[in-house]
Amino acid sequence: MPELPEVETIRQQLESRVVGATIADAGAHWSDKFSSAIDAVGGEIAGTRRRGKYLLFELALEVPAELVVHLGMTGRLTVHAVGDEPDLDHPHLRAWWRFTDGRTFTFHDTRRFGRIAVVDAGNYRALPTLDHLGPEPWDPAFTGRALAAFVKRSNRHLKTILLAQRAVAGVGNIYADEALWMAKINPATRRLSVNRADRLVETIRTALQSGLDHGGTTLRDYVDSDGSTGANQHELHCYGRSGSPCHRCATELRHRVLDARTTTYCPTCQAR
Ligand SMILES: [Zn+2]
Repeated sequence: MPELPEVETIRQQLESRVVGATIADAGAHWSDKFSSAIDAVGGEIAGTRRRGKYLLFELALEVPAELVVHLGMTGRLTVHAVGDEPDLDHPHLRAWWRFTDGRTFTFHDTRRFGRIAVVDAGNYRALPTLDHLGPEPWDPAFTGRALAAFVKRSNRHLKTILLAQRAVAGVGNIYADEALWMAKINPATRRLSVNRADRLVETIRTALQSGLDHGGTTLRDYVDSDGSTGANQHELHCYGRSGSPCHRCATELRHRVLDARTTTYCPTCQAR
């Protein structure tokens, strides 16, 4: 699933292509996960933003609105040039927007875990995860003290807290495993001192920055909006390396299922 670095890479690619475009027509899959895409008709895309793993396209309409896109597992946004017409009957096409200049913006999503919504600007009640999203990783409000307090209030495993998007936005399975390995913290712990939380805040930023610097991580499905793969998979220390030696201590990395998510860790460096 695309996480913050992958979503931000896509946002940066799309920004220069879609900002200033006006949506003349649209179509969407009937599912209420996608159908409100057509409410963007008439709007000019005034800007792009990202919150966590959500892409936000600001729409200049009579009432300012936002086209919100969550890519889910396999969602893909593409801008088709005039003369490169997309197949609007493609079975995995979930939504399309035709610009007044003749270009077409499409959302394909094979596995249908994605989500599209057009909402009044800033009103995310229809999207509870976005509505309750925690701070961005580089927000000064995301501190070790705040994270430690969050863990203390919760009764869940640390990694599960990171994935839930409320303590911090944008971290998923790949970058959580990387950050916990870098900080030498066991993913299943339910206790976190402020000192260790300070270190984890730093390693979350380091892991995500590596993803941003390398255009995202491609393991199975992720490609950017040009169809190119990322390169951060070559930089990973922990995620997906179960059975291989730890880059720090050479112990064989292990994996376990933690709250239904596969988690890789070093039994020596990340002992409980
Ligand atoms: Zn190790």
